[in-house]
Amino acid sequence: MTQPAVSSVLPPAPAGIMPFIVRYSGEVPLPVRLGRDRVRGRLRYADETRSDRDHWGTLWERVALPPKGQRGDPRPEEVHPYRQRRAMLDLWCQICKRPVDPDYGGPYLFLHRGGGEPLAEGTTTDKPPVHLVCSAVSVQLCPRLRGCFAGAWVEHVPTWGVKGAFYHPETLDLHQADAVVPLESPYRRWTIASSTVVELQGVTPLTAADLEAEWARLGRERLEREFERISRLAVAA
Ligand SMILES: [Zn+2]
Repeated sequence: MTQPAVSSVLPPAPAGIMPFIVRYSGEVPLPVRLGRDRVRGRLRYADETRSDRDHWGTLWERVALPPKGQRGDPRPEEVHPYRQRRAMLDLWCQICKRPVDPDYGGPYLFLHRGGGEPLAEGTTTDKPPVHLVCSAVSVQLCPRLRGCFAGAWVEHVPTWGVKGAFYHPETLDLHQADAVVPLESPYRRWTIASSTVVELQGVTPLTAADLEAEWARLGRERLEREFERISRLAVAA
């Protein structure tokens, strides 16, 4: 299915909106010394602290956290591991950092680059959810989605695993940079996570035309007002 670059029902997205989860040039990986935890049989940092692992015991990438205003230039193709993890954990909108459903009753909207194919039941993803109004900004500004998007309303979003760097258990050499590892996999013990992967359950698929119908229902005036609000929330920092 071919789609126009900008949907005809949408007011143009304001310039300068930067999604909350985007990584900046100053948020570089910090140097770490890897070791082997012989008691638990897993990878560890030589100077590991409690904040290096999540509550599943997964080791996470260490990244510099410069203060706002000193983060450098946004890298829209990359996500910051802490912000991505937080967005998935609390189901925050990846654009504006607000809960996608403050009551946590669902359903939650997920978008993907899909060539027009909607998301299917059981799909796994590391792209956090979005508000309906924020989705109307995403499809205009996100290079990954422009002209090639679909989505789904999703009832349940359990954590499925992580994406990250998998190290060889014997040599501790990097074995695969972008490994996708389920929670129950023994390989998770040898992986440094950089994003949380969730499973989409209770999926109502949305084609691009379905999404356009949802935006049209909101009406152009409401969308313009919401775009204005988002542009104050989601600015490059
Ligand atoms: Zn939002």
